[in-house]
Amino acid sequence: MSGVSTIKCDVCGRQKAEVNHWLVAVVPTENRGLLFAAAEEVEGEEHMPEFQYEDICGQACAQRRLQIWLDSWMAPQPDLGDRASSLELKPPLARDGRAPAAGA
Ligand SMILES: [Zn+2]
Repeated sequence: MSGVSTIKCDVCGRQKAEVNHWLVAVVPTENRGLLFAAAEEVEGEEHMPEFQYEDICGQACAQRRLQIWLDSWMAPQPDLGDRASSLELKPPLARDGRAPAAGA
């Protein structure tokens, strides 16, 4: 049982049993798409950091997960409205190594 710790469906929360037709949803971190793979196929594969992997317990939850993605994809994105420009103008935290010398 190496590597098979308690796996739960990311959609309905059902716990994975020995024999199941589970899937893995592969989601790019920027939510640009959605891919399903058989859990057995990706088990043991190296996970790529630019993707998010979700356990899906079967066909019903795969369809629900797809619907969730479609909803988020088609929904308007208020964050990209006219307030986005002011957010982008905020300077990032100073992490370029030029730390202010404190009381030298
Ligand atoms: Zn499920």
